[in-house]
Amino acid sequence: MRNATPTRGRFSFRRDRLPTPADYYAAQGLQLTGRGAWRNAVCPFHKDTHPSLRVRIETGAFRCMVCGAHGGDVLAFHMKRYGLRFIEATKALGAWEIGR
Ligand SMILES: [Zn+2]
Repeated sequence: MRNATPTRGRFSFRRDRLPTPADYYAAQGLQLTGRGAWRNAVCPFHKDTHPSLRVRIETGAFRCMVCGAHGGDVLAFHMKRYGLRFIEATKALGAWEIGR
């Protein structure tokens, strides 16, 4: 029996290659304000006029207190913002590795 997962060993998602949440959100034009584990930003998922989005700086998790947009990391944010599938977003963020 060959490997049951066809892509395994040829492609892989490298979570360690994702940008840090601080770098990523800055590159996305979000200004994170506040201190502590959760920062505030103007939400890009609805017409926001004051910071409604909460971003967990350590993990990249985000949650909007107004429109309910949420996700667990920068990858989820990227998928949601640009309507990408997991693999597309992973490639866009440079965390997709093609094996030898
Ligand atoms: Zn929102």
